[in-house]
Amino acid sequence: MKFYITTPIYYVNAVATVGTAYTSIACDTLARYRRLRGDDVLFTTGTDEHAVRVLRLAEEAGVDPKTYADRVAAQFVEDWRRLNISYDDFIRTTEPRQHRAVQRFFETIYQNGDLYLGSYEGWYCVPDETFLAETELINGRCPNPECGRPVEWVSEPAYFFRFSNYGDRLLAHIAANPDWLIPEFRKNEAVSFIRGGLRDVCVTRRSTWGIPLPPSIPDSEGLVIYVWADALVNYLTCAGYPDDAEEFAKFWPADLHVMAKDIFTRFHATMWPAMLMSAGLPLPKQMAAHGYWTVAGEKISKSRSVQPPRPEPVLERVMAETGCTQERAVDALRYYELREMTFGQDGDFSVEGVLRRYADDLANDLGNLLNRVLPMIARYRQGRLTQPCPPDPALHPAAQQAAADWERCADVLDFRGGLEAIWVFLAAANRYVDQQAPWALAKAGDNEALDRVLYSAAEAIRIAACLVAPVMPDTADEIERQLGLIGWERTWQQAWQWGLLPAGQAIGQARPLFPRTEPRKVATAATGKADKTGEGASKERAMVSFNEFKKIELRVGEVVSAEPVPGADKLLKLVVDIGGEQRTMVAGIALSYQPQELVGKQVVVVANLEPATIRGVRSEGMILAGWVKGDDKSISIVAPDRPLPKGSTVS
Ligand SMILES: [Zn+2]
Repeated sequence: MKFYITTPIYYVNAVATVGTAYTSIACDTLARYRRLRGDDVLFTTGTDEHAVRVLRLAEEAGVDPKTYADRVAAQFVEDWRRLNISYDDFIRTTEPRQHRAVQRFFETIYQNGDLYLGSYEGWYCVPDETFLAETELINGRCPNPECGRPVEWVSEPAYFFRFSNYGDRLLAHIAANPDWLIPEFRKNEAVSFIRGGLRDVCVTRRSTWGIPLPPSIPDSEGLVIYVWADALVNYLTCAGYPDDAEEFAKFWPADLHVMAKDIFTRFHATMWPAMLMSAGLPLPKQMAAHGYWTVAGEKISKSRSVQPPRPEPVLERVMAETGCTQERAVDALRYYELREMTFGQDGDFSVEGVLRRYADDLANDLGNLLNRVLPMIARYRQGRLTQPCPPDPALHPAAQQAAADWERCADVLDFRGGLEAIWVFLAAANRYVDQQAPWALAKAGDNEALDRVLYSAAEAIRIAACLVAPVMPDTADEIERQLGLIGWERTWQQAWQWGLLPAGQAIGQARPLFPRTEPRKVATAATGKADKTGEGASKERAMVSFNEFKKIELRVGEVVSAEPVPGADKLLKLVVDIGGEQRTMVAGIALSYQPQELVGKQVVVVANLEPATIRGVRSEGMILAGWVKGDDKSISIVAPDRPLPKGSTVS
């Protein structure tokens, strides 16, 4: 089966951020997954270079626009290389093939009667490259909530596309194909946009920067094609249009266009299919819009002054804090973005969040499994596996469940759900090692059981590598290297199978998969000085003077309300009455408590903790709780032994 997936082509008026990286990582994960399944994948990305703004930016930089675009495009290529984005084609709209495709496309829709010469007079938002009606302006400014900038008055002869002709056909297509636009609430937005009435779209500009309207169209002199109409055609160009009919017949229509929500409704979900209908071409099979990353509640957007982080400083921080390689930091970022954000919703990005996922999920759950099993094979079995054993009922069904769940989730772009399913399997595998206790079997001299347990645990690791490979390809490679699987040809089917590790397989050298350096410099509370002496430092750090302790204000509170924090599986938002004052607090207890069982419960609160914004919720305090290390489901809230009045002091 063929699978053609696209990212949008990115504007060259900005470089890649963790926001654009999310789109590319999501597409890359699906592309890799489909390749593992044996599909013939075409995965494309690129740069959109004909924006009017590029002229201005180039002028400011003192170079010609093409040179400016070359620089930014090269930066995108470098960023995607670093993030291990396995695209098959990187298209730039300044390439001759795009020029040919756009001209052919516009000739076709002209011949089909959907282009007419009119006069464009109106408002134009330069950063958004969008023409706007007077009624759309808000206080004379761009209505895009992410933009809100002053608009410019433009007046010129121009060609219009008969967008208004396509409303009914678009609505009919949406009705007949319920999964065409996802998620559902974005589809509803597109439907409202169409029902609100489609206006014909001006598709040319008088400019020198852009693809000229074909000379066969009358009065085309001096007109170039509107940057959006040009950009969308890239999806056809990458599939071979108009030169390679065979390639085009194979890959078009695209199976999936993925993009951020800001370019969904007006462009991909409506204008693009209308253009394709006009050209008599089949429509893409599915289009999906994801949300924005916010940073501490601030929206990331190309039009805003808030600068979202570039991927590079995030990777550097992860490497510095953990001592891991760049490859592992890249995989941690890829994992974090897909695990943290519910596809379609907004998510809050933080490097601390990446480090937390690194420590909890990658080092603790995945890395730990590998780094405890392989040394046991080395110690007890001279680094060799014995005969394959039959599927272990404690592991194999859990692995199959994870594979099935991933497949179901991947089909609807639920990366988060897919990863959660894999982590359920990893928890089962770690539990298996705990319960089977190979060290005890070795001590008791039960060789038969020890062989079985070590082989089964190694199989679980092999399957885990296969399952995480679409998201963390380099980590999967490293796991297989450590298992000694040199030249191993990975397929998705192997995630379903058992007993593939050959008898006598020599495992490779064990190395910490996701290393964790000890904190290097710890300022001790007592002296305030940096202490580098490792264990001694941690002992000293544990000592707090009574005066220090007295600074912490602990109070008895009562939970007034509790609700889940959207998009965060472990967090609850609580309102706690601490005696005449109600505080909102975010607590990581959702795996251990249902919201309703908390209401009315007494808790102990750190009342003078610095407020922090967690997932966009301002948290003003902390609830004390205990837990079994490494088990998020074991959390137990600390409460007074006998009820106390709200606000009572704890010391
Ligand atoms: Zn704007």
